[in-house]
Amino acid sequence: MSTPAVPIPPDRPVVLNLGMGVDSSAIATRWLLEPHTRGFDLGQLTVLIASVGEEYRATKDAMEQALFPLLAEHRVRTVQVARAGQASRDGYVTLSDTRTPTRLVTDVPVTLGERMLNVGTVPQVSSTNRSCSDWIKHHALDSWLADNVAHAPFTHCIGYNADETRRAERDLAHTKGNRIPDFPLLRWNWTRRTAADYLRTALGREISRSACFFCPFQGSVGGRATLLARWRAEPEAALRALLIEHNALVMNGNAALFGSRAARDVVEEAGLHDILDRHHDQVRQSPWSVYEVRRVFRARDGDPTRKGQAYRSVAPLATGPRRDMIAHLDHLSARYGCTPATDRHGITRAHLLSRHPSLYPTAEHFLAAGPALTQAKARDCFDDLFAAVTGGAPVIAALHAA
Ligand code: SF4
Repeated sequence: MSTPAVPIPPDRPVVLNLGMGVDSSAIATRWLLEPHTRGFDLGQLTVLIASVGEEYRATKDAMEQALFPLLAEHRVRTVQVARAGQASRDGYVTLSDTRTPTRLVTDVPVTLGERMLNVGTVPQVSSTNRSCSDWIKHHALDSWLADNVAHAPFTHCIGYNADETRRAERDLAHTKGNRIPDFPLLRWNWTRRTAADYLRTALGREISRSACFFCPFQGSVGGRATLLARWRAEPEAALRALLIEHNALVMNGNAALFGSRAARDVVEEAGLHDILDRHHDQVRQSPWSVYEVRRVFRARDGDPTRKGQAYRSVAPLATGPRRDMIAHLDHLSARYGCTPATDRHGITRAHLLSRHPSLYPTAEHFLAAGPALTQAKARDCFDDLFAAVTGGAPVIAALHAA
């Protein structure tokens, strides 16, 4: 296939975001093996990687055994960065900056999984919004770009493939400053399949989709077989996903990892009983908390029939062994006149207030028991919002603090 390169001025840096999946790996590989497809000197190139710390072993192996040796052979500057902490002000760290990469650094200051456990949720993703990716990857990538190349024009290559033109259009619409975006796979008219076929031939091995252990995008019906193969091969990854999901379900019974499907159900139906048993053990043996969870749902644009933005407050009321926390939940339920009920995921909640099913604004208020992993969290305005919607329903955390 003839794919002429777009010449890039010799004084302009070129940065390739290497997501460690098929698309960006195919770009890097082709540039190195077929120089006429580049349009710039390799001395201009930086391959930039955001390490999330919770990548599958297969991805790490593919990088270390196939791609990094190629980058090292061609002495391509390869930079690995990571988010430095839970808060944005913590910035980022450079884990590695070398022309001879050998190791994918997975020992990172903070992982997305830790964040999910800390706030008691699963990654929130849609076709247009991946806040998880912004949090764990783009914060570090963009910070490195700002510090190192964005003071002057630079070409920024992203691996959107020929099936992802809308993502590329959105990227173009938001480009600013000295960043000059480029999408080589789109110029080459390469789909994911073309890229995967190329890598299979060029490297002699498969490069699989790069994803966090608990990525919701793995759960599509088409991707289920791949997901289960990965979780069979790397049970620790499945355990991490199940724990994150369980913790989120304590706070919100609708927080299944794959939207309408729970990871737990997927594992159970696949007959991965060993993994499920280990998951139950890790949940049972963990310290537990009793949480007070309040949620307010606003009306969208003032229309009481349309659900608007949701706000949540989580407050751990007590922490201790599981048995004690279940007893404490029973005690609080009796004291505040509500009845505990255990759902199909084995999570016990006692509702003080149930939300209206179809009119907004509305609120819910419940006690729940689960692993002691989630921190107290609420927006400053939450108490006022909750009081306005409920007419001043009592808050147990406040009563106990008084
Ligand atoms: S791999 Fe999935 S879970 Fe991880 S950052 Fe990307 S979209 Fe989010």
